[in-house]
Amino acid sequence: MLQVKFFPFNAFSENTYIISNEKNNAIIIDPGNFLPREDSAFFDYIEQNELKPTQIINTHCHLDHVLGVHACKEKYQIPFSFHATEQQVLDWAPEAAMRYGVPMVHSPKADFYLKEGDNIMLDDDKLKILFAPGHSPGHVCFYSAANNFVIAGDVIFQSSIGRTDLPGGDFDKLMQSIHSQIFTLPDETIIYCGHGPSTTVGIEKMNNPYVKSL
Ligand SMILES: [Zn+2]
Repeated sequence: MLQVKFFPFNAFSENTYIISNEKNNAIIIDPGNFLPREDSAFFDYIEQNELKPTQIINTHCHLDHVLGVHACKEKYQIPFSFHATEQQVLDWAPEAAMRYGVPMVHSPKADFYLKEGDNIMLDDDKLKILFAPGHSPGHVCFYSAANNFVIAGDVIFQSSIGRTDLPGGDFDKLMQSIHSQIFTLPDETIIYCGHGPSTTVGIEKMNNPYVKSL
């Protein structure tokens, strides 16, 4: 069984995830730790649970999802990856940081790119890479069928959806992604969101006021 733990970090209340298995190997997703106390909270959790992070993977590269990449890479010396189409968004992060008044000293680089349809392995467990653009052009989600969850980033939230007004955003693509990548998963699948509380596919199919039928 995979353990999923998340921490709301930085001024944008972005959910940083760490997923671990029974061997204590772990994957960090969307590290947004920014303030020193956020670094401590995250690293203390890892230390206290004797977790061994093996890699950092990102759903997408908006500023609030990459603020902690540098600190995590420095600390654990592990690779960082995301979808190639998202490189343009990462390149824009320092500019976004300036606009939001959030100093971004280190701009992280990809060690490799993720490909849709591939599986990310954590020992015997796999996370399938689902391509779900719209909120950002190279957004992906990470799905574990065996553990019944999807890490959905900013595609869909409890009773809301990702914004599409940032560079590379596309409302029609987002709707398509929600219908083809998220709403095709079993209803009981837990959706772990990039902001706010978790929900399920079934609940959002029933209640989400922003998802239009295609
Ligand atoms: Zn975002």
